[in-house]
This record gives sequence, structure tokens and C-alpha cells, in this order.
Amino acid sequence: MNGAGIDARARAVHAAELLGELARRDEPLGARTTYRAGGNAALLVVATGEGVLHAVSDVVARSGVDVLVVGCGSNLLVPDRGYPGLALVLAGPLERLDVDVPRGELVAGGAVPYPVLARRSAAAGLRGMEWAVGIPGSVGGAVSMNAGGHGAATADRLVGARLFDLRTGASRTAGPGDLALAYRSSNVAAGEVVVEAVFACEIGDPADATDEVASIVRWRRAHQPGGRNAGSVFTNPPGDSAGRLVELAGMKGARVRSAQVSTKHANFIQLDAGGAADDVLELVEVVRAAVAARTGVELATELRVAGRDR
Ligand SMILES: Cc1cc2nc3c(=O)[nH]c(=O)nc-3n(C[C@H](O)[C@H](O)[C@H](O)COP(=O)(O)OP(=O)(O)OC[C@H]3O[C@@H](n4cnc5c(N)ncnc54)[C@H](O)[C@@H]3O)c2cc1C
Repeated sequence: MNGAGIDARARAVHAAELLGELARRDEPLGARTTYRAGGNAALLVVATGEGVLHAVSDVVARSGVDVLVVGCGSNLLVPDRGYPGLALVLAGPLERLDVDVPRGELVAGGAVPYPVLARRSAAAGLRGMEWAVGIPGSVGGAVSMNAGGHGAATADRLVGARLFDLRTGASRTAGPGDLALAYRSSNVAAGEVVVEAVFACEIGDPADATDEVASIVRWRRAHQPGGRNAGSVFTNPPGDSAGRLVELAGMKGARVRSAQVSTKHANFIQLDAGGAADDVLELVEVVRAAVAARTGVELATELRVAGRDR
């Protein structure tokens, strides 16, 4: 481990002392991602309410421990050496979803899975969030990434969000404009928690909405690989598709040990069962270099890596 890693571990030890029973030490983190690979978090806190967020922010201020907010882990890779800071996951009241049909509104805790939000709102006859069934992330992760698909994005439906900054203890209420939502990005900072988000829908027919949910699920099954992956690895460069460039560079099906560029969708990297997260990291760099050499385009990663600056 390098000097920075040792310092980070020392800050985590200090934070553990301050947090006492609120934190679990050396907790599996890779297992909480859709890659189901990668190491442990030095500390893990399950925030079962907003009081825990305040307690954690107090400890962050006193210890300087690094923090990472983890949702469903569907766009996150944890290196095999682990994450040397505090990983925060949301639970309890932060998993609450209110479907207000007369107002056409969804009020969702940051931990609500997007597929749950899509199915429950469709079943109640609210239209507009059906596409979210195909995104295996949480509301907080989706706001942070401005997740989207099927011609829609989170920004289209988001009325506002409530955020809490673990580094400063400050809260903010933000509209979509304040969050600078753009293609797979926002200004939600590392250490900032999306606590709650409100979405606007149209009132419609539950049967039509649930049919659309079912057709999106069928489309995903037909066009995307299953197994261990985190969806698209690279963002699409303007006017092009990352998958097309990866294919053009001859990298579809390329392998680094337990990681392979999907033969079904060239912008997905699949991991074998029991594989190593670091093989994914290495393959990402191999593919990026091959695409740059063949096309001159430097692909940017959509996938986030625990412990790496955005
Ligand atoms: C099979 C598959 C298909 C996918 N298809 C799509 C797709 O069509 N479109 C698309 O956009 N994405 C897609 N993804 C990627 C992923 O589902 C989205 O990026 C999703 O929004 C990530 O949410 P998450 O809760 O899993 O976040 P995580 O992976 O846990 O974290 C991702 C980022 O969000 C931050 N974050 C998580 N929760 C919070 C929170 N409460 N507050 C603040 N920040 C938070 C994390 O710190 C991290 O920076 C796919 C993934 C898979 C595995």
C-alpha cells in the first residue's frame, strides 16, 4: 500500500473509534456491487435515518476520513485491495416510496431501487418513469449519474432533490437546474448524499403503463448481457457510440484473465464468477488504449471506481 493509502487507513481507524457501534470495520464492499467482486471497505455505516448522516458528518469533520456513498453498486467497481475509507449505504426510511396519484408525483428516498419505483408507479397508473425498470440502481445513484435509457433521462422527470453533504454537514434542496444534470453526470459531489427525490408523472392507465414496463424488460433481456457487469463502461462520445468504437478497435470479446468485453454488447465488460475486480480495471485500460490507437478517440469511463477521484 502506498503512503496515501496508509494515511487513509489511519484516518479510518480514528473514525472507527469515534463512530463506535455505528460503523462496521473491514466489511465486504465488492459484494455490494453488481460485479460482485472487489475488496472490503475499511468502514461501513448503514444509515437508517438522517440522524446517522449527521453523526457521520461530525466524524468526517473530526477524522478527515474519506467517504463514498454506495447505492445498488450497479455503476461501481471496488478494486481488489478494497476501499480505505468509510462506505455509507442507505436503508430504513430512506427506502420509502410515496406514490401520490392525484398529484402525479413520486416522493422517493435515496435508497429506493429504480425498478421498484418504475413498477409501483406504473401499477398505480402514473406514466413517465416506466423506462427506469431497466436501470438496476437506486434513486440516489440515478440522480447522481442522471441515469437514463429508452430516450429518457432522470433529468426529464426530476422535480427536485434533498441532499446532505457528509463533508460539511450542510443540506441543500435542489431543482434539476441546480444539479447541473447532463449526459450521465451531475454536480452531486463525492460525499454528498441524495436523501430524497421528487419526480413528476402523468396520470394514465395502469394497464398501459405496466405493458410498457414489461416491454422494456423484454427489450433489455434481448439486447443486454446478464451476469456480472455494471452496464455501459464508457460514455458515448458526442455523436458516436462507445460500443461501435470498441468493436471498430477489434476489442469485442477481448479478455484480460477473468474479465471479457461482452460479445453481445461491446460497451459492457463481463466478469467470470469468482473473477477479480482488478481484471476489469486492466481491461478498461486495454480497451481505452486500443480505441485511442485505432480511432484517436479517448473514451471516458461511465463506470465509477471506489477510491478514485471522479
Ligand atoms: C445491467 C445494467 C444495465 C444498466 N443500464 C443503464 C442504463 O440504461 N442507463 C444508465 O444510465 N445506467 C445504466 N446502468 C448503470 C447504473 O445502473 C446507473 O448508473 C445507476 O444510476 C447507478 O445507481 P446505483 O445506486 O447502483 O449507484 P452506485 O453504483 O452505487 O454508485 C454510482 C455513483 O452514484 C453515487 N451514489 C449512489 N447512491 C447515491 C446517493 N444516495 N447519493 C449520492 N450519490 C450516490 C455513488 O457515490 C457513485 O458515485 C446499468 C447497470 C447495469 C448493471
